[in-house]
Amino acid sequence: MTVDGAGKQRAGDPGRTKRVVVVGGGTAGWMTASYLAAAFGERIDVTVVESARVGTIGVGEATFSDIRHFFEFLKLSEPDWMPACNATYKLAVRFENWREPGHHFYHPFEQLGSVDGFPLSDWWLRNPTTSRFDKDCFVMASLCDAERSPRYLDGKLIDQGFVEQQREETSARSTIVEYQGTQFPYAYHFEAALLAKFLTTYATQRGVRHITDDVTDVVLDQDGYIAHVQTAEHGRLEGDLFVDCTGFRALLLNKALDEPFVSYQDTLPNDSAVALQVPLDMDREPMRPCTTATAQEAGWIWTIPLISRIGSGYVYASDYTTPEEAERTLRAFIGPGAEDVEANHIKMRIGRSRRSWVKNCVGIGLSSGFVEPLESTGIFFIHHAIEQIVKYFPSGREDHRLRDLYNESIAHVQDGVREFLVLHYVGAKRADNQYWKDTKTRRVPDELAERIENWKYKVPDAQTVFPHYHGLPPYSYNCILLGTGGIEVRHSPALDMADERAAIAEFERIRLKADKLVQELPTQNEYFAAMRAD
Ligand code: FAD
Repeated sequence: MTVDGAGKQRAGDPGRTKRVVVVGGGTAGWMTASYLAAAFGERIDVTVVESARVGTIGVGEATFSDIRHFFEFLKLSEPDWMPACNATYKLAVRFENWREPGHHFYHPFEQLGSVDGFPLSDWWLRNPTTSRFDKDCFVMASLCDAERSPRYLDGKLIDQGFVEQQREETSARSTIVEYQGTQFPYAYHFEAALLAKFLTTYATQRGVRHITDDVTDVVLDQDGYIAHVQTAEHGRLEGDLFVDCTGFRALLLNKALDEPFVSYQDTLPNDSAVALQVPLDMDREPMRPCTTATAQEAGWIWTIPLISRIGSGYVYASDYTTPEEAERTLRAFIGPGAEDVEANHIKMRIGRSRRSWVKNCVGIGLSSGFVEPLESTGIFFIHHAIEQIVKYFPSGREDHRLRDLYNESIAHVQDGVREFLVLHYVGAKRADNQYWKDTKTRRVPDELAERIENWKYKVPDAQTVFPHYHGLPPYSYNCILLGTGGIEVRHSPALDMADERAAIAEFERIRLKADKLVQELPTQNEYFAAMRAD
């Protein structure tokens, strides 16, 4: 980092933010550039500079259901982008062996219904219909078990007619059954490198300038704002706003501007990963419409089914195993097909930049913050950040309140997700080795410890979960608590005095709906084979 001592190099016109320079061309860089191009068109100039020498992280292929709004904002339909990115559907995260060997449960993208003001999870605890909370309360769990696509072969979605019909039946029974959504949400899996390539074309066709070069220096003006970044071959790139998408390096935000990094490592000890990309014959291998997280000796393994390959990786704590052992475990877990595939070993920086927006620099992606990928929140963080950037886009330097509001919103999202992830480990019933025993005694964020005590008496609701927006509704906490099984949760005493017939009818309705959909819907393999044939 250099300071422009003469102070002549002020960052453009301090009264107007017009020139945006994005440093880094990974998922964060290209999502940001595409979104800004879609939001502001030619009213701002966007430049992306990415290094040919420094690669991208090479992972990050499972998403959150909000991602659909990103593509909608870009006015892209699924056939526009999914085939180009080898994308598949994701209806849930499937957790295997977190409670005990052989056990699995789903955390689906589906709202939890409620009857007479009590969530179905509460009714289920009072009188479990089967041993599968997830299957009794959510339609999606059955679709995942049966490897179904969320769309019919003609592209039709599981439609809202069903919900409307339920409302009529409900009024006939004069019972309150609440639904917050009218259609089952879902997310995607995609190849990260292909998405970046697709978005490069999207953004450059909409006026974004693309430079392949190394940033070698970041030059500050006398006020400590970034005046320009120096490149190896293209000289200086001046801008009014700089977006740091350089990944864990955080070249602008943490290095040049010296913004401190707040580590989450004391509560989330997994600090490493090893990843493999294993070719897949989609005509032969069943393709689950979910990401699978399988608990291991020192962490967990992700399995992400894509059209042409499986993405898989072992996220582990280096205090409990070595990279060599982790790689061996991962290869053995995958079995045939992984022998000749090169492993990508990654050191993870877990936590967040104290502030993501400092002076005229915003960190987006791994430079801003990262928690381990257990609930696929990395790309969600990016999407949330770029939505907020547009919302709080400054006119100039004087808009520091917009910056503060932005930083507050980003910190809440990341701190909230951290709490949610910690719950997976504290809640996991398994305690069969030191790694899993330590998950029960390690420090828990103070407020989460308090919340867990509340949840033992009343399943999580809007009043008792992390109070700021962080992408995870109360039902998600219900899923993890009831699925991981290590924390004893009771039903509300009021339900002992309630008439449970409506709740039983609701569980039956979910079962019938799931059976019907499993019969009607194609498998993911059938759906994407048809899409390829078109
Ligand atoms: P990177 O991909 O590291 O890109 C950095 C960019 O900066 C590159 O283009 C590089 O060339 C450029 N660069 C660096 N230095 C310079 C320089 N000097 N000059 C110019 N350019 C430079 N998220 C999810 O949502 N779902 C998942 O399933 C998921 N799994 C993950 C698994 C692991 C093990 C890890 C570590 C992360 C995972 N993530 C996941 C997070 C996700 O990978 C990232 O959020 C996403 O890829 C964004 O990365 P990035 O663009 O910030 O950084």
